[in-house]
Amino acid sequence: MGTLEGKAALVTGGSRGIGAAIVKRLARDGADVAFTYASRADAAAAVTAEVEALGRRCLAIRADSADADAVAGAVGQAVRAFGRLDVLVNNAGIFPYGPPEEVTVEEIDRTLAIHVRSAFVAAQAALAHMGQGGRIVSIGSCLAHRVPYPGVALYAASKAALVGLTKGLARDLGPRGITVNLVDPGSTDTDMNPADGEAADGERAFSALGRYGEPDDVAAMVAHLAGEGGRTVTGAAVAVDGGFCA
Ligand code: NDP
Repeated sequence: MGTLEGKAALVTGGSRGIGAAIVKRLARDGADVAFTYASRADAAAAVTAEVEALGRRCLAIRADSADADAVAGAVGQAVRAFGRLDVLVNNAGIFPYGPPEEVTVEEIDRTLAIHVRSAFVAAQAALAHMGQGGRIVSIGSCLAHRVPYPGVALYAASKAALVGLTKGLARDLGPRGITVNLVDPGSTDTDMNPADGEAADGERAFSALGRYGEPDDVAAMVAHLAGEGGRTVTGAAVAVDGGFCA
């Protein structure tokens, strides 16, 4: 029996990359899983089929994380589908890149909305349904802690905000038996950051292991925190970064 048997989870940005790996891992561990996506209905359908093949219920929800109402609505849809919510994973993300002079106010607002506001709003909406043993995990970045190259000030700032959100919520929700943690990936082979992309060799040089991680490496840590093994971990920022921050 999986450690998440009988539980229900919601993962934002679950159609591709790290989010898709998390959806599938939580399902393999026994959970029914809802996930959001932005536009790639084809990718969402493929993930749904894989989860259902495992014998778990799955719900794909098109919901832009830049839209606070859509995020809260996705939480409501997941609860209506499964009758409960035990695990929330805030994963949806984008990678704004470029010199600071070229960053527009719209980009700043959109990035903060997707990475920070949506994580806050999803947690608020989830709280109405989460009891003892509830789990909130956000996906941050090693760039929240070390910024070894230029062009990522906005991205790093938005991910650093999740450190404060995680610690603050951990204090708020500890008395209710709900843990709140952050998982900070390093270079991970996805569409956002392909291991054969232009910047890949430079990124590899910053990691102690000298290689990219796989989405499953991040998913394994999320599954640990979401399961019984994570019951005493809260307010933590756990690196899965190959030693990028070492
Ligand atoms: P991908 O670009 O490969 O996948 C992004 C996923 O998020 C897709 O499912 C996409 O949906 C969804 N998504 C994007 N924007 C939105 C939005 N506005 N609303 C809802 N869903 C959205 O990214 P990764 O898997 O690489 O990244 C996942 C998380 O991990 C992000 O938070 C990222 O910042 C973080 N991270 C990634 C690292 C890496 O090296 N890959 C390193 C450190 C952190 P759709 O398929 O519909 O487009």
